[in-house]
Amino acid sequence: MILTKTIKSYAKINLYLNVGAKRPDGYHDVESVMQQVTLFDYVTVLRDTDTTVRGVKITCTDRLVPSDDRNIAAKCAMAFLDKYGIDSEVSVSIDKRIPVAAGLAGGSTDGAAVLAIMNSLFDVNAPMDELCAIAAKLGADIPFCLIGGTCTASGIGEILTPVKTPVLPYHILICNAGHGVSTPQAYAKLDETPVTEPVPSMQDVLTSIQNGEMPRNLYNSFERVILPEHAEASQIRRDMLALGAEISLMSGSGPSVFGLFTDAEARDRAKAAFDMKGILAMPCEPVIKKIK
Ligand code: ATP
Repeated sequence: MILTKTIKSYAKINLYLNVGAKRPDGYHDVESVMQQVTLFDYVTVLRDTDTTVRGVKITCTDRLVPSDDRNIAAKCAMAFLDKYGIDSEVSVSIDKRIPVAAGLAGGSTDGAAVLAIMNSLFDVNAPMDELCAIAAKLGADIPFCLIGGTCTASGIGEILTPVKTPVLPYHILICNAGHGVSTPQAYAKLDETPVTEPVPSMQDVLTSIQNGEMPRNLYNSFERVILPEHAEASQIRRDMLALGAEISLMSGSGPSVFGLFTDAEARDRAKAAFDMKGILAMPCEPVIKKIK
């Protein structure tokens, strides 16, 4: 029998991302406010109940993404089968809409979606913290993609705390131009480049969003090493503000840049302006999760 399930896997933006010094173990301490957004891939997992050999097949519509065991979604699927001792073959297919290597956690969210789907397709019903423990071994952003909504991240990104938010008063436009950025290379550049600017406190961002206000004092450490080398991303950041965004910031290790607009129509006009320039512009909204 064939059992199959498809879900949307949502991207994220970082409203705040402060990367600390490299630790002796090679990781970096981070402080971050992560926001899930409605930009998504479709992820489908198919389970053939007649198979008895553990295995994962993967297909993806984007040729930039590996369609083999290097795919983060394939790694998550195999980790799930291993963890629960399931001898079965699954087929994962990804309809890719989130730009790749763009600072939007596109791979991580596909991995998280696979874990969530397999948890129900195989009737494992593992609790969220157990899924997060599987996920954390495979990628720093995957646990956040499982939890979703708005979270702070600390430690090396593994300590996640959901943030209770009222309706968020902004509409998002994410633009992506130019080449992808390798996250490990971006960290290496950060290590070589001393911080010269004053770093705002994460608390300002948190307080503003918890009050249902436009987030204040957004910050991203990676801007200081990525923007000088990505002229298009720097230009988009300026254009966002000129086109009416209240705030513009690079997401993650870039080069995607987002703008936050109070007015959805202004956001849509900005999208049209970027379309005219041939720049990929993706309107989306924050995903809000109810927290008890
Ligand atoms: P993050 O914001 O978490 O640092 P990112 O958005 O910058 O991630 P991804 O889109 O996740 O970057 O891609 C990073 C690398 O992972 C790429 O080189 C890509 O080939 C590889 N990759 C593996 N699996 C996937 C997947 N399912 N989707 C996208 N990229 C994947």
